[in-house]
Amino acid sequence: SGGGVVAYADTEPTEAPTKQLNKNTRAKKKVVVLGTGWGGTSFLKDLDGNLYDIQIISPRNYFAFTPLLPSVTCGTVDARSIVEPIRKIVKKKDGDVTFWEAECYKIDPVNKRIHCQSSVETNVDGNRELVVDYDLLVIAMGAQVNTFGTPGVKEHCHFLKEIEDAQRVRRSVVDCFERASIPNFSEEDKKRNLHFIVIGAGPTGIEFAAELHDFIHQDLAKLYPKLQDLVKISIISSSEHILNSFDQRISLFAEDKFQRDGIEVQAGFRAVEVTDKSIRMINKASKEEVSVPYGMALWSTGIQMRPVIFDLMNQIGQGKRRVLATDEWLRVQGCEDVYALGDCAAISQRKIMDDILAIFKITDKDNSQTVSVKEIQDVLGDICELYPQVVLYLKSHHMKDFFDLLEIKDNSLELHIEEFQKALANVDSEVKSLPATAQVAAQQGAYLASCFNRMNDTKSLEGPVRIGESGHHQFHPFQYKHFGQFAPLGGDKTAAQLPGDWISIGYGSQWLWYSVYASKQVSWRTRVAVVSDWSRRYIFGRDSSR
Ligand code: FAD
Ligand code: MG
Ligand code: MG
Ligand code: MG
Ligand code: MG
Repeated sequence: SGGGVVAYADTEPTEAPTKQLNKNTRAKKKVVVLGTGWGGTSFLKDLDGNLYDIQIISPRNYFAFTPLLPSVTCGTVDARSIVEPIRKIVKKKDGDVTFWEAECYKIDPVNKRIHCQSSVETNVDGNRELVVDYDLLVIAMGAQVNTFGTPGVKEHCHFLKEIEDAQRVRRSVVDCFERASIPNFSEEDKKRNLHFIVIGAGPTGIEFAAELHDFIHQDLAKLYPKLQDLVKISIISSSEHILNSFDQRISLFAEDKFQRDGIEVQAGFRAVEVTDKSIRMINKASKEEVSVPYGMALWSTGIQMRPVIFDLMNQIGQGKRRVLATDEWLRVQGCEDVYALGDCAAISQRKIMDDILAIFKITDKDNSQTVSVKEIQDVLGDICELYPQVVLYLKSHHMKDFFDLLEIKDNSLELHIEEFQKALANVDSEVKSLPATAQVAAQQGAYLASCFNRMNDTKSLEGPVRIGESGHHQFHPFQYKHFGQFAPLGGDKTAAQLPGDWISIGYGSQWLWYSVYASKQVSWRTRVAVVSDWSRRYIFGRDSSR
């Protein structure tokens, strides 16, 4: 990076190998990892097992490939094909690595200790309590479904978050068809039973609706020919367009395709109450209320922190926040030696306007009270790394470079603090939090493992160092690389949004989707299983038995 405002150890490793120090001079530090999802597994895979005493704790003894969960709901892919036992991953590692199946219910950062409940009885008197001490804690326990306190959701709606959810959804869909086949029911009851409602028009809800449509039209229609005309799929979307997080071209294509497929989108509605037979919703604009009967409902409107995370946030002065905040090095703000990544945390992005005086001061190396082109060039790399909003701002305003933003056209021009501040005044409008995706969680896991692998054993990550403060930080901050996103829309058509605003919709991107998801599998067993499930589906169709 630029002129060395901040010096990082990972650019020029000068320290003796940590491995040696640890082995010979002191006991290994104990790293406790909470969670075996995308974040935890990626961290574990990249962590050098020889450097630490590693303890993994999670209520599930497997990793689940969540992007294929919607395919499990209709039997396109088998549940067993997308899970990998965590013990298999552990076995491949050198060093001291142990796994315990337990759920953490209390984090005590003062005594550096966590309290867990094991999923099986831990001794004869039925005690399930486990207390574990840590030197370094890595929280990667994901998030939970957010019902927004809507009455009846927990009791009557399906979720799509875990493997068990997907299996339950599949059984419930088949149940609806079997129930509607029984002659005792009236036409109206049959219609109600065959009305499938998806609440939430994000990627999960949309993909489920598309899968369900294919399942019904490609497989179930043949087996239940009398019911075909009674089936209906609806999506309730609180925003005006579905797939909000995608490019508008994709949203519009999806809406158009769904319309042709007969999937009804109720845009601008909010579900307010769910009973066993109907969902009451309100049109956000007109306040008009409607009640729709349904047979099966899937709730996928978003996520929130788990109670144990809220409890931790209260203990460390983050009680007013909605998400656990970390710095750019993934260290939880307000306590020591605790790291958090993935869906259970968010990096609290620093604002350029908060630091503007410090930035100006360090840029103005010769203390002339003005900054020159040369001086700016020297720190530009550091600024862009610590304040990614600068890069986003330039991009969204179609600017060539930073000097465009500063309106410097003549290389001899120097800026005073007022001019510097004015030019950067709007940049913070581009501060964005990272999405809650597997892509982010996996990259954060790998990043943190690489820091842990190079962290020297006497100090944990130092800092944070702001531009302008003296001192050095050991590592570069976490930086996210977006590789694009997919939205499978059914009928072997997938929408892909790749970096550089590259959009592709159709059969071609369906094959790209197949190959990306096959390559991202954690083991050869799951890769082979998933690919053979896909082929089986093409040849024999999906299984409709309960
Ligand atoms: P998770 O992967 O959820 O892992 C959390 C882990 O913590 C689990 O092992 C859990 O058992 C464990 N745990 C829970 N409670 C405790 C506790 N109290 N103590 C200890 N451990 C605990 N992202 C994409 O990038 N692309 C996609 O296509 C995509 N599709 C998705 C489809 C669906 C249906 C869903 C639900 C999600 C999808 N995502 C996708 C999002 C992605 O799955 C999440 O962002 C990702 O799983 C987050 O990783 P994580 O490690 O933070 O949490
Ligand atoms: Mg995890
Ligand atoms: Mg997972
Ligand atoms: Mg996050
Ligand atoms: Mg100067």
